[in-house]
Formats: sequence, C-alpha cells, structure tokens
Amino acid sequence: MSPAALMESFNRCVVPNYARFPIVFARGKGTRIWDVEGKEYLDFGAGIAVCSLGHAHPALGEALARQAGTLVHVSNLYYHELQGQLAAHLVALNGEGKCFFCNSGAEANEALYKLARKAGHDRGRFEILTALNSFHGRTLAGIAATGQDKVKKGFEPAVAGFRHVPFNDLEAMRRAVTDQTAAILVEGIQGESGIYPATADYLRGLRALCDEKGLLLFVDAVQCGMFRTGRFQSYQRILESSPDAEVDWRPDAVSMAKGIADGVPMGAVWIRAPYAEVLGAGSHGTTFGGTPLACAAALAVFDVIAREKLDRNARALGAHLKAEILNLKSPAIREVRGLGLMIGIELQPGLPAPMVEGKTPAGLTVTRLHERGLLTIPSGERTLRLLPPLNVTRAECDEAVEKLASVLKTLL
Ligand SMILES: *Cc1c(COP(=O)(O)O)cnc(C)c1O
Repeated sequence: MSPAALMESFNRCVVPNYARFPIVFARGKGTRIWDVEGKEYLDFGAGIAVCSLGHAHPALGEALARQAGTLVHVSNLYYHELQGQLAAHLVALNGEGKCFFCNSGAEANEALYKLARKAGHDRGRFEILTALNSFHGRTLAGIAATGQDKVKKGFEPAVAGFRHVPFNDLEAMRRAVTDQTAAILVEGIQGESGIYPATADYLRGLRALCDEKGLLLFVDAVQCGMFRTGRFQSYQRILESSPDAEVDWRPDAVSMAKGIADGVPMGAVWIRAPYAEVLGAGSHGTTFGGTPLACAAALAVFDVIAREKLDRNARALGAHLKAEILNLKSPAIREVRGLGLMIGIELQPGLPAPMVEGKTPAGLTVTRLHERGLLTIPSGERTLRLLPPLNVTRAECDEAVEKLASVLKTLL
C-alpha cells in the first residue's frame, strides 16, 4: 500500500484527535528510524522522550522475549519478584520511600492527586496548586491540573480543586496558598510549553513553603526525569548549583513515565515517608500496573544506562549539542533553553516567513526538518524540542545540528 493509501485507511478508522505529520514509520535502529518508503530520519524526538535507549535496542528485545516466555502478567492481587526489584531501584535513586506502578504519565499524576486528597482529607484540604503553562496529562483531572486553557476547552466543567500560578514565581505561589491547599505540583522542566527549567531558588523556596504550611510537594518528572538531564531527576541536576540543597532537597512524591521502560508503557510514582503509607489497601489500584513484562523492560533500561554510563553521555552530549546550536549564531533563534538532552530552541517572533494559516511556527519548522530527515518536536507555539535517545552519539548530534542549520537559513 502507498503511504497515501495507508494514511487514508488509518484515518477512516482512527479518531482524529491528533493532527499527525504525514509520515508512516516502519522500523527503527538506535537513533535512526525509517518510513515505509525507506526514507531515513535521525530521531531527535525519541517518541516524546520515550525511547531512552533508541529504537530496537537488543537488551530490551532480549528482556522482553525472555519475560514473555516466562510470565507476562500477574495481577496486583499477588506478588512477583520484578516489581519489588524495580521499586528498590527507584528508591535507591530517589531516596527512602515507596513506589506505585501504573501505565502512563497521566495515571502517575492521578495517583499524586489522590495522594494529596487522602493526605489532606481529615484537615479539609483538597486543593492542588500547579504552574501556568504546565502539562500534566489528558485525563479529566490531568487537564484540570494542566495550566493551559487549550487542553481544557470544551471539557467543562473542570474537576474541582486545581489552581494555577506563574512558574518560577515563589511569591505568587505563596499568595495562592489557602487553608484548603493540600499540595503543590510542578514539573522540573516544563516540557510542553517551550522547555522552561525550574530555578534552584524556586525549588528551594517551594520546599520551604511546603514545610512551613504543611503542604505536600510533588514533582512531575514524566518528561524531564529518567537521566535525560544527566541526573536521574532534573531537580538533582538543577540543585547541583546549590550544594547545600542537593543533599537534602526532596519532594514528597514524584511521578514518572515516558522514558522509564524505553517505550513499553509504564508509569510510576515514588512517595517518601510518612506519605508512602497514605494510599492504603483498597484506596487505589490498577489492573496492568507493574506487570512483569513492563518491569523486566524497565530493569533492562536501568541496567543499560548504568553499564554504559548514559547519564554522563546525556550530560556531555547535551552540553555539546547546546553549544553547537548556539555556535550557529542563527538570527532565526531567539533563545536556547534546557538541560542535558532536553533542549528547546525558541524561534524569533514572526518566523518562519510567510506564516501558514492554522499552523504554528514550531509546527512549520518541524515539517521542514522532516524534509531534511530530522525528527524534532514542537513545544509551545515557537519552540523546537530536541529529545534524542540517551545513547545518542557525538556524530549524530553534529549531523542533527547540520540539518538544523540548513533549515534555520530557510526560515528568514
Ligand atoms: C507526557 C506528559 C504527561 C502525560 O503522560 P501520558 O503518558 O501521555 O499520560 C504528564 N506530564 C508531563 C510533564 C508530560 O510530559
């Protein structure tokens, strides 16, 4: 079937909730992915920060094949070894606490909302404060938590108990707290609205504010976690600049998903004591969460990252990539933001010229990059997002910058 025919039959039977780019992918290997006609792309989206080890990594294939031939699923009515192993791994990386497993980022955040409500219940506290321009998922509570009107429109009335305040503005957060506030939820780096990292001062201030007011502090690490910044959690990377805070600073809970199992669906929440006991027996659940197959995948990913020191690779090549992009001194670029392999390139207002009705500058530019064989992801209206696999090579980064340079020239 031709790509056009494939897309037509796809669109006949798939709900049109995505404005998909017209590319039909067939296979991948590492940082490369090929469409059905054999055109090769350098994949600097990795899903959306999902394929931590790139495509078709042999360690993932082996782990999945082995586990599929042993035990794919066990209900959470019982125990199995791998969920406990993976939880121990997350605890070792995040700090003392306990984990809950689910299947997506939205679901991981849902566990945080329920944790906040349950923890605040007896004191009449239920409200969760989040940041403007945040993104927390597409469920009803997820869009209520998300600080962007576009995801809420048409789905009113919103789930009650969420309010948004400007990001990186500690005083605004302080002013927003009421005696009904149970928790504060922020991303370590805002991923969907243009790649905006939290500052070290903000994180330190939020912790102090939550301690003062008796609130829970949550970090949504769905996109910015999993070693993408060079540390397991982005806040660990951000707080490196304030050595006193790096040792002691902990949120009360963290949501994870996207890159945790290299594309096998998995979400996870880490919760520290004493809140780790709040979601007691019968209070929350999931049929698929923490299944042996997904846990085997995640354990394989952690194993490869540790063996191949991919945290260091993410840090070093992220710095290289950012430096090379800045080095282009392109008049089309307004600002380059981000940490490690989570990089946002904001375009100058008014580009590309001429604009096309109904398209965003980022979307148009991403399409031009497709023609050159580079996959990137729009973030907000005017920012291109680079999220390559953690095992990307220096040569691949240089190749991506070359492609980027050639397209940036066409925007002016
Ligand atoms: C992608 C994302 C989510 C939602 O994850 P899903 O797996 O799509 O439900 C939540 N928060 C952040 C920061 C994300 O990037």
